[in-house]
Amino acid sequence: MVERSVTVTVPAKINLHLGVGPVRADGYHDLATVFHAVDMCDTVTASETTGSAVGVKIEVEGEGAQFVPKDSKNLMAVAAELLARHHGISPNVTVHVHKKIPVAGGMAGGSADAAGALIACDSLWQTHTPKIELDSLATQLGSDVPFALHGGTSMGTSRGEVLTPVISTGEFHWVIAFNEGGLSTPRVYAECDRLRELSHHKVTAPFVPEALLYALRAGDPVTLAHELSNDLQAAAISLKPTVQRVLETGVELGALAGIVSGSGPTCVFLTRDASHALDVAARLSGAGVCRTVRTARGPVPGARVTHSTSN
Ligand code: ATP
Repeated sequence: MVERSVTVTVPAKINLHLGVGPVRADGYHDLATVFHAVDMCDTVTASETTGSAVGVKIEVEGEGAQFVPKDSKNLMAVAAELLARHHGISPNVTVHVHKKIPVAGGMAGGSADAAGALIACDSLWQTHTPKIELDSLATQLGSDVPFALHGGTSMGTSRGEVLTPVISTGEFHWVIAFNEGGLSTPRVYAECDRLRELSHHKVTAPFVPEALLYALRAGDPVTLAHELSNDLQAAAISLKPTVQRVLETGVELGALAGIVSGSGPTCVFLTRDASHALDVAARLSGAGVCRTVRTARGPVPGARVTHSTSN
């Protein structure tokens, strides 16, 4: 019998700018990115179960569930174990996720679920972990996890885990094209390095363009459209050439601009407003160039408790 449960909603991210610098001594790349959380959310529920101890049990349903590990490798299990260890607790919890974020799609779905599990378990166990400790645990779980906790729009530096909030006005409306299959993030970075080496590209320290920050402050989608950029885009297209056709089609059908999201292969298109997004989404869906089309708006908050039951 389920005794208590806590449900957390956690958003996907888009990188409005993803500047990839040189490889560091630790093998990571230095990044200068702008994260933007959109209302395409996974729902994570942590439940305490009575009876014999189960440790951390994982359940996955929804978008791409068949591609997600259900054992201790699932990032929600890693997060729950880490939080339990931090507080000296023996976990006895079932963590369930209903996925809407595409798996291996460049929208940080696994990181979102890890952030969701941290917040859900912290509330379920009433451990009241201070924000600064949650941030530190999130950083240990992965570069994108701190942003999934915070949401909104933020600049990310170092591996992406050092966050500085960015002023942004109003809402931006997006069309999101899910493509067939996923891309492994390490493979996309390796391909980016390979393409740079081939072209003798001199890699310099990455930075976020001032014009992008201005467009966000002004809440102006037309200016923002000119500033969207992703240094991993060429690598994602090299590994999955069909992505190029999706990007071209979205723009032909009226989007202000389109880019690959993070390491891809998901493509995101900026539109003028909610009704323009619906119009572009319907046309893109009809064009049959991608697997699924959704609309989303941003920025939205990060992981937050949306429901809890006690007995
Ligand atoms: P990144 O954060 O590197 O951009 P991504 O968004 O491209 O990643 P994810 O959806 O996070 O990709 O999945 C990457 C891999 O992580 C998957 O192939 C899967 O094996 C593993 N994984 C572990 N836990 C989860 C989870 N809860 N949800 C999705 N994938 C998970």
